[in-house]
Amino acid sequence: MSEQALAGTHSDTHRTVRVIISDGNNVLVGRKRSKDRLQPCTGHVEEGETAKEAAVREAKEEMLDSEPNKEALSKVEDGIVREAECRHTQNGSLRHEYTIYGLEVQEPVLDVDEEEFSSLEWRRIDQLVQDHESGKDRLTQNSYKDIKKYREWRKHS
Ligand SMILES: [Zn+2]
Repeated sequence: MSEQALAGTHSDTHRTVRVIISDGNNVLVGRKRSKDRLQPCTGHVEEGETAKEAAVREAKEEMLDSEPNKEALSKVEDGIVREAECRHTQNGSLRHEYTIYGLEVQEPVLDVDEEEFSSLEWRRIDQLVQDHESGKDRLTQNSYKDIKKYREWRKHS
């Protein structure tokens, strides 16, 4: 998507969505090709698009065979600002503003974005967090933070 315009809250912030896809018991993560780390569905909000629309689009582009129902999306948290590396930036990290969504699915057909991920894996959240913390199988650093936010949100919703 390098040719596409990205939406920003101001010129040097990229709006980003993190979409944590769950079947109720497990969450879906991809193994990144660029580094041996796990990551949930993640992408930029494009110009003219709402964060919710981006979440639905990215879920289909990266992990699912068909576009999920918008009604199955829940906002977990937004307005999280971080410096993050980005393939749209040449010189290191850039301000990104994250919105985290949970997406509930039932027996979805998966379709991995092979440019981004070598495989998709269903994991129990607690196991995912534990494996990251023990160094056994690591998430990307920001994904780890967001998976924990998602876990807290699920406990209270
Ligand atoms: Zn970016």
